[in-house]
Amino acid sequence: MLKDDCLFCKKIKGEIPSSKVYEDGDMYVFKDIAPKAKVHLLAVPKDHYKLISEMDDGRAQVLARILTKLPQVAAENGCTNGYRLVVNQGDDAGQTVFHLHVHILGGENLPWD
Ligand code: 5GP
Ligand code: ZN
Repeated sequence: MLKDDCLFCKKIKGEIPSSKVYEDGDMYVFKDIAPKAKVHLLAVPKDHYKLISEMDDGRAQVLARILTKLPQVAAENGCTNGYRLVVNQGDDAGQTVFHLHVHILGGENLPWD
């Protein structure tokens, strides 16, 4: 289910523009507007929810499909020598968009600290 007042739901619906790199029935992958690495993609399930703690079996299956597809999408977009996945969860992690998303960071050597 999509949510009317959610930025990422609006991108999925095409109501506001995004740099889409991949889409299928379950997921939508697009370029982050403020990249924190040479390659910075966001992979989102089309179902609107905020936290992993809200997952049920169906949502877990979609997340598994996202992770299964993700290496190919990452490689096609310049992550050919590894990449980092980040899933911010809630306030202490600084989550700013409340639609679950997986950050894909790469295209260069990434500092850890
Ligand atoms: P969070 O902090 O919630 O884990 O990540 C939200 C991400 O969404 C940030 O990296 C931010 O740059 C990105 N973002 C915020 N607004 C937009 C937007 O309008 N378009 C795109 N493509 N990314 C956005
Ligand atoms: Zn949403």
